[in-house]
Amino acid sequence: MLKNDLLEAWDRESFFHPSTHLAEFARGTAPQRVIRGGEGCHIETRDGHRLLDAFAGLYCVNVGYGRPEIAEAIADQARELAYYHAYVGHGTEASITLAKMILDRAPDHMSKVYFGLSGSDANETNIKLVWYYNNILGRPEKKKIISRQRGYHGSGLMTGSLTGLHLFHRKFDLPLDRVLHTEAPYYFRRDDTSMTEAQFVAHCAAELEALIAREGADTIAAFIGEPVLGTGGIVPPPAGYWAAIQEVLERHDILLIADEVVTGFGRLGSMFGSEHYGLRPDLMTIAKGLTSAYAPLSGSIVSDRMWKVLEQGTDENGPIGHGWTYSAHPIGAAAGVANLKLIDELGLVAQAGRNGAYLNRAMRDAVGGHAHVGEVRGEGMLCAVEFVKDRESRTFFDAADKVGPQVAAALLEEGIIARAMPQGDILGFAPPFCLTEAEADEVAGKTAKAVQKVL
Ligand code: PLP
Repeated sequence: MLKNDLLEAWDRESFFHPSTHLAEFARGTAPQRVIRGGEGCHIETRDGHRLLDAFAGLYCVNVGYGRPEIAEAIADQARELAYYHAYVGHGTEASITLAKMILDRAPDHMSKVYFGLSGSDANETNIKLVWYYNNILGRPEKKKIISRQRGYHGSGLMTGSLTGLHLFHRKFDLPLDRVLHTEAPYYFRRDDTSMTEAQFVAHCAAELEALIAREGADTIAAFIGEPVLGTGGIVPPPAGYWAAIQEVLERHDILLIADEVVTGFGRLGSMFGSEHYGLRPDLMTIAKGLTSAYAPLSGSIVSDRMWKVLEQGTDENGPIGHGWTYSAHPIGAAAGVANLKLIDELGLVAQAGRNGAYLNRAMRDAVGGHAHVGEVRGEGMLCAVEFVKDRESRTFFDAADKVGPQVAAALLEEGIIARAMPQGDILGFAPPFCLTEAEADEVAGKTAKAVQKVL
């Protein structure tokens, strides 16, 4: 086995890490961690530290680390057939079975699954399908896409543009010309603190209506949103938000893309966020929880209504000119089948709901009363702690204070991984669904200790 210091030197010399401060990493002042194993909710670093991963990687290892059932399914598939493409009607038992299993779990009006590799490429596919759809319907002007401030939809050209977080736009010259951002359903950060939750929901719907009126409904193709804002701060919507938004969209014939990359396959304690909040999407984006990240795989789930038009399009124009070499990769598909079976067998969706509620309660009890905690919020196995400079006046810290990262670092010293969310002073938790009550108590207790240390 290579020595740790040699591996770390190679890492600095050779590896371009995503979402990393490159200069600090090169200087050795940024975190550098080499991971070698995982079991349940824990990972182990190469230098022997065992850490409780309360963010499930990047909220994706939903069934927990080290599941032999999925590892074996992957190995069996690799031995039998590591690869064949899915173009012009090809498939494998794993990819066909997985498509069927996904549709069995999705809302009834969904019709087909297109497979990709990442949440970003699945969202790129969805945007292309929306444009294709409107071209086939003879509406070439109806192309703009609305997303929300603080939404996260990926790092591609279009999906990076749809993402409403500064970090992902800075200095990249993304093609923002067909993208519109509307208000995030972030009640805690509302400008007008005198608004009730119901008034704020009406305000979000009115903002959307005004944006559509300004741009013209005949120029707007779709609205994309995460059922619960994830990377933007883990913000569950206020009651009635999705009903109010959908009423506006349906009135203006604007398609709804539910980005279920985080919420799909159980994280909220329901199979999908769409089911949880009563969304009626035209397209759904799935990734992370589809394989619990045991292999890269994503999907775009297409509704009946859109599917009929796509079929008509190929009758008029020939085969659809969109595909990835690795669409429906057999190894990813085998991981997906084994993962969904495991979720069913162990009842992990219900468990995520139960244990997530426990974690949220424990966190509220542990830190909710602290003078610098403005809000503890969450839904299912998602939880966030938002810090404020002053609780009474709801004054926020400056970005330069780096409160979120400091608390995350203090928590890491206690052996717990949480995520300092990229915008605002927010500590995020999204553990594997197998987190026990004892582990939830440990996460909450050590968070209290870390908060006390920093603030
Ligand atoms: N959509 C949402 C809601 C996400 O949270 C993410 C990633 O975190 C993506 C899309 C992009 O997925 P990926 O990183 O697999 O491209």
